[in-house]
Amino acid sequence: MSMKKKKGRSTGVLIVLVTVAVVVIGLLVIRGHKQKDVPKSGFATSETISQTEPLGKFADFSMNEAQIVYDGSTITERPTTEEVDPALPASTTPGQSDTTTAPTAPTTADPTATVTKTTAAAATTAVSTTAGNGSAEYAYAYAGFDPKPANTNVDWNLLLVNRNYILPENYAPDLSEAVKGSGVRMDSRVSPHYQAMYDAAKKDGITLTPLSGHRRISTQKTNFENKINKYVNQGYSRPEATRMAAKIILPPGTSEHNAGLAMDIISLDVDFEETAAFRWLQEHAQDYGFILRYPKNKESITEITYEPWHWRYVGVPAAKAIKQSGQTLEEYLGAV
Ligand code: ZN
Repeated sequence: MSMKKKKGRSTGVLIVLVTVAVVVIGLLVIRGHKQKDVPKSGFATSETISQTEPLGKFADFSMNEAQIVYDGSTITERPTTEEVDPALPASTTPGQSDTTTAPTAPTTADPTATVTKTTAAAATTAVSTTAGNGSAEYAYAYAGFDPKPANTNVDWNLLLVNRNYILPENYAPDLSEAVKGSGVRMDSRVSPHYQAMYDAAKKDGITLTPLSGHRRISTQKTNFENKINKYVNQGYSRPEATRMAAKIILPPGTSEHNAGLAMDIISLDVDFEETAAFRWLQEHAQDYGFILRYPKNKESITEITYEPWHWRYVGVPAAKAIKQSGQTLEEYLGAV
């Protein structure tokens, strides 16, 4: 074998190797891009959301909060059409909230004891009609979503609404302003408690600005559908588009804001954790019946990332028990 031949052969081998390397690298790059664009599963973790869109520090919020629509550049918060409904009664119904402050309620987390301690009056309030979901298939079942109807036969303040337990489509609690003059509303049985907490904080020099309270299911549905259509128009299949939308907007009926039982306070920012208001809430919220609903390190249970701004009303005894035990509402209710 001559030197020339040998050299020619090794050059040929080198060319083949380089070509293979280029093809492999090319395939890897393409694959990487594909993985970035297509979410792997139905629901997001903060990890997957950061792969799909550059959401920055609003990532967690926009992923979980139905009302926030983030298009990559602008954040639309609480659309002006949402809470404007002159037909809704403005008055509260005092007395309805009495059941939550009953001194007989348990001081430790005992889910069965708590849930069965339901009064007939409490069980029927706020549910305007029969459950809309019943045995019917969920509107987004085609995308793999299969939530059960929320159990509305419990104390209203212990109503569990999450990705797995959905409100009836026609769920429409009586609403009133959480803080007089704020224009932000909650279930009218909760508002007096928020007002009381607000007033108490004020005396300590803290303002618990109510930013976002009740949100209508219909509004959320519209936002959700718009988001789906946006992705469909980009070429994704409807099931794919729906799963992607669900990472940014909670599917209609699965947000506590739809129930009017939760308030986002002051800031839609994880930095809220650093505020005096947050420290005040950590110390006192349970005395007014509110809990930090999506704590740190509980994402595996709540399926929602840490939200220091989101406070849920559960009533004083439950709030104190939950605070003391460090449980989530899911754990407290034995619904894990
Ligand atoms: Zn919230």
